[in-house]
Amino acid sequence: MTEAAEPQHIVTRFAPSPTGRLHVGHGWSALMAWDMARAHGGVFRLRVEDIDGTRSRPEHVAGIVEDLQWLGLDWDGDIIFQSRRLGQYDAALKRLKEMGLTYPCFCTRADIAASGSAPHGAEGPVYPGTCRRLSGEERQGRIAAGEPHAWRIDMARATAQAGPLAWQAGTFPFGKPGETSIVAAHPITAGDVVLARKDAPASYHLSCTLDDAAMGVTHVLRGADLRTATDIHRLIQTLLALPTPIYIHHPLLVDAEGRRLAKRSGSIALADLRAHGADPAQLAADLRAGRFPIGISVAQA
Ligand code: GLU
Repeated sequence: MTEAAEPQHIVTRFAPSPTGRLHVGHGWSALMAWDMARAHGGVFRLRVEDIDGTRSRPEHVAGIVEDLQWLGLDWDGDIIFQSRRLGQYDAALKRLKEMGLTYPCFCTRADIAASGSAPHGAEGPVYPGTCRRLSGEERQGRIAAGEPHAWRIDMARATAQAGPLAWQAGTFPFGKPGETSIVAAHPITAGDVVLARKDAPASYHLSCTLDDAAMGVTHVLRGADLRTATDIHRLIQTLLALPTPIYIHHPLLVDAEGRRLAKRSGSIALADLRAHGADPAQLAADLRAGRFPIGISVAQA
C-alpha cells in the first residue's frame, strides 16, 4: 500500500443504464460518489448509459433524475447521454481498426452458446474466437453482403501491443483519502470482448472508457461486478493514449437470499421506498452509515 498525493481536483460520476428504476444499491453507489466529490470541493457528473437501444427507455431517464433528486443529490453540468456521443465512439473504433486490433464478428448468441467449448470468465462466456479465424476475403464479402456484425478486440494482439498493465485502486470512502494500491490488469482473461455491437457503434467497454476520459473523471467508483471491466478499460486507455482514473470497486448489496440486487428482480427500488413514505434524508443518512433496509446487506467478498 502506498500513500499517493491526493489529486488537486476530484471528478466522480454516476453512470446508470436507463433500463429500470434505481434500487437501493444504485442509491448507495451514487451517494458515495457524490460525497467523494463534495467532500473535496470536486465535481460530480451524471452520465446516462443509453446505447442499448432495445432496453433503454426515456421514462427510466426521468426516473433516475427523480430518484437521485429525491435522495438529495445534484450534479454538475449537463447530463451526458451516450446516445448523443456515437460519433466519438465510432472515431475511436476506427483508430483501433486501423491499428489492426479488431475484427468483425458475425456470430449470433446462439452460435456462441452452441460452440460449447467457451470457458466462462467474469464477463460471461469467453468468445471462442470463431470469427478471428476468418480470412480477410471472407470478412469483406460478408460485410459487403450486409451481414450484421459486431466488432471485437483481438485481445492477444492488443495485450501484446500494450505490454504489462496496471491500475491504481483507491480505498476511499472505505479507507483514507489518497490511499491507493497498484493492481496488475489481466484483460486477456476476458477474451475478445465486443467493442461495437451489431446495433450500436460502441459497447459498454468502449463508450465508458472514452466518456470517463472525455469527462475528466479522476475517480471511478462502481460495483465490484465491474472489476474485470476495469482491466479491459485500462487496456483501451493504453491503446488510445487516454488518462487513467483511480478505481474504487464497492461491494454489491444482496437480498435476504444472497442474490444481487437487480432492476428486474423486484429489489427495493428507491421509487417503491418513496411510495411507501420513506424519509429520503433518513434513508440517505442510513445508506451513508452502511445501514440498509431490512433484508438487504453487503455481499461477503
Ligand atoms: N452503466 C453501468 C451500470 O448501470 C455502470 C457503468 C460504470 O459505472 O462504469 O451497471
